Amino acid sequence: MKLVSIVVPAFNEEANIARMFSRLTEELEPLPYRYEIMFINDGSRDNTLQEILKLAEKHPSVKYISLTRNFGKESAILAGLSRIKGDAAILMDSDLQHPPQMIGEMIAGFEEGFHQVVAKRSRSGESKMRSWLSSAYYKLVNSITDVDFVDGEGDFRLLSRKAINSILKLSESNRFSKGLFSWIGLSKKIICYDNVVRNEGTSKWSFGSLVNYGIDGIISFNLKPLRVCFYTGFLVLFLSIIYIIWTFYQIMQNGNSAPGYFTTITAILFLGGIQLLSLGVIGEYIGRIYNETKQRPNFLIDVSNVDEYDELR
Ligand code: UDP
Ligand code: MG
Repeated sequence: MKLVSIVVPAFNEEANIARMFSRLTEELEPLPYRYEIMFINDGSRDNTLQEILKLAEKHPSVKYISLTRNFGKESAILAGLSRIKGDAAILMDSDLQHPPQMIGEMIAGFEEGFHQVVAKRSRSGESKMRSWLSSAYYKLVNSITDVDFVDGEGDFRLLSRKAINSILKLSESNRFSKGLFSWIGLSKKIICYDNVVRNEGTSKWSFGSLVNYGIDGIISFNLKPLRVCFYTGFLVLFLSIIYIIWTFYQIMQNGNSAPGYFTTITAILFLGGIQLLSLGVIGEYIGRIYNETKQRPNFLIDVSNVDEYDELR
């Protein structure tokens, strides 16, 4: 019988672990599959780990990895993927915002032979502003990047063993998983579910982290922002040459009437702005190069009840 691994990152989710487990088993038991549930404790500061240990003691299907500190969801998922043994993996949030009743449909997609089965979320129950902002963002990103980002397609997805191994081969430390899932290619099926509102604990996303995430999405997957700097510089140079010629002509015609303060200050501010912006963009790339060259591991494991599964890497 095939094995399906559920990968569940958890950061300060003590109130959700037990419920998540019972909902998962409810869905998994009837399936003609063996299953393992891999919880990754991402440096929680509450009793998340204790909750997981309690389950692991009673149920052999519960596997866990506890990271040495909070490494972020992307790293937690990677840690999970590196140690599961399933023929397929399903990535799910621990706050039940990814409805477990979708598991059956995902497995059906897997049986049909798809390597990725993506559960796509509708944006119901979200503020108008937020859904408008995100759809505008996706339009922007898709117009400038080469990989496809789709609104509502998140981490909630099934990956075949081939897809898991492909993801594990990508060793970069700046992981923008949405982009990576798209980058590996392979056949993909999309199924839909309604947005669910979180009922316990709080979301770890602040407005600032969403903005950072947005910038990551643009920078991680292409060099076009650098090109924008280049073209802007070119355009400004071109315009300023025209302006110089025109002013020179004016001076020749009317004697010395070169305008002073206003033009000087606008030119300085305008150019200063563009230069700082360009430096910022370049800096973003250099920062990433710096991070990648350190070649630090994406996560460190503190305790776990599963062995290394390195031969799959
Ligand atoms: N999570 C994690 N590490 C983090 C932040 C979040 O493992 O640093 C987990 C969290 O426990 C949850 C999932 O990632 O299972 C999604 O987090 P959250 O619900 O805060 O995000 P949202 O649903 O608001 O996008
Ligand atoms: Mg959530």
